[in-house]
Amino acid sequence: MIIGCHVGFGSDQLLGSAREAYSYGANTFMFYTGAPQNTMRKDIDEKLTNEAKEFMQTQNIEIKNVICHAPYIINLANNIDPSKWDFSISFLKQELKRCEQLGISYMVLHPGSAVSLPREIALQNIIDGLNEILKTPSSCLILLETMAGKGSELGKDLEELKTIIENVNKPIGICLDTCHLNDSGVKLDDFDAYLNEFDQKIGLDKIKCIHINDSKNPISSHKDRHANIGFGTIGFTTLINIINHPKLKNVPKILETPYVGNEIDSKERLYPPYKFEIAMIKNETFDPELIQKIINYYK
Ligand code: FE
Ligand code: FE
Ligand code: ZN
Repeated sequence: MIIGCHVGFGSDQLLGSAREAYSYGANTFMFYTGAPQNTMRKDIDEKLTNEAKEFMQTQNIEIKNVICHAPYIINLANNIDPSKWDFSISFLKQELKRCEQLGISYMVLHPGSAVSLPREIALQNIIDGLNEILKTPSSCLILLETMAGKGSELGKDLEELKTIIENVNKPIGICLDTCHLNDSGVKLDDFDAYLNEFDQKIGLDKIKCIHINDSKNPISSHKDRHANIGFGTIGFTTLINIINHPKLKNVPKILETPYVGNEIDSKERLYPPYKFEIAMIKNETFDPELIQKIINYYK
C-alpha cells in the first residue's frame, strides 16, 4: 500500500516534509512548495534536497510516489485580467522547475474556476494555458484534480477532464479526490462502475494519484468539505475498497483530512489525524473513538 498525507514544507523544505511523513507511518506524502493559498516561494535548497533523498531512501519512501500540489489560488480558467492569467502561467512554469529540482514526478493542479466566463471559454483558457506551460518540456507531469463542482469549478465530471486532456498536446494525468467525486455526484459505493466509465473516456493509466478523504456532505452537494476517514458520508468501507482496489494498487493514496480538536478540546488546538488514520486504514477496521484518541495522544 502506498499511503501518505499532506505535510508541510517549511525551512527544512523536502527534508522536513519527509520527516513529518515518516513520523505518521507514511511511505509517501504530498506538499505545497509554500503556503497553499499564496504564491510566495523560496528557492529550492540543493543540500536539503539531497539530505531529504538520503533520508527517504533509508525509510523506504520512494520519491517517485511523492506529490507536489500547486497553490489553489492559481486559476487558468479565467483570463479576464490578462496579467493575472499570465502570472498563473509563469508561476506554474516555475513550479514545474522547482519540482524538477526536487526530483518530484507529479504536480496536482485544480483545473480552475470559470467565475464570470461561459464554461466553454473557461475550458479553452485552461487548454491554452496548459499548452503554453508545456511548451517547456518537463520531467514532472501535471495531474488535473477531479473537482466537486463548487461554485464555477471546472473538472467536475469526466467530460470536462476529457476535453482538457484531448486538447492539450502534451501528456497530462489525473488525480482523483474521493470527497470531490462524492460531492460532484459519483456513487463511490459502486466504484467499479466509475472506474469502467473512466477507463472508457480517459484511460485508467492516466490516474497517478488519489486523494483519500471522507466528505462532510451528501453526494451531489457540490460543497468540497473534507471529513476524517470513516467520519463522513462516504464511509470507511467504501474508502478502504478504493484504497485496496487491485487496479489502483501502484497509485499513491494521499490523505487530506482535517486536523482535529477544535470542537472538543477547549484550548482550541488542532492536531494532525494522519498517524492514526494511516494505522486505522492498515488495520482495515473503523475505530469510532479515533478522534478522541488523536486528541489524547497529542495534548
Ligand atoms: Fe486539491
Ligand atoms: Fe484533493
Ligand atoms: Zn477538496
